[in-house]
Amino acid sequence: MMRPRFLLDGMLGRLCRKMRMLGCDCELIGGGRSPWLLLDAEKAGRIAVTAATRSLDRRGPPPVILLSASAPERIAELFAAIGEIPAIEPFTLCLECNAPLSVISPEEAAQRIPPRIARDFREFHECSECGRIYWKGSHYDEMEKQVEAIKQRLRDEGLLRSSAPSSSPRGRGCC
Ligand SMILES: [Zn+2]
Repeated sequence: MMRPRFLLDGMLGRLCRKMRMLGCDCELIGGGRSPWLLLDAEKAGRIAVTAATRSLDRRGPPPVILLSASAPERIAELFAAIGEIPAIEPFTLCLECNAPLSVISPEEAAQRIPPRIARDFREFHECSECGRIYWKGSHYDEMEKQVEAIKQRLRDEGLLRSSAPSSSPRGRGCC
């Protein structure tokens, strides 16, 4: 089954990062392109998502319009609207550019990260697009908590099986 891919309206930048954190393929529409959200989504084969009610720029499938406020609620609302169980694979996509992450060796990473990080961490992932390097630093625990909160919300809404796979990062990028 093809995984859903999303195009988010410009105002949903924070939600976009949270979705990427979960491993959901999610692009944010470029500045000023919001009036053409549906056109751009159709061209890209993505599901249009917005929090605005406005006149539509085009015939065809309407966007998913999110009414709730918090990221966990919005993500539950989104998957309920499209009638799909999300495949959650945390920390497999770059938060900045939505590209898959892959493992790189500590030696390879060491040339491009601060010495202190190279000393304290052994597991590194690299974005295939922008080259950004990720490790389980101080932000990681906070993000894991956010992932858990989102998964709990999805379970509460019956959108996730309770025996969900563990949230440990996978060795390779997904998709
Ligand atoms: Zn990237």
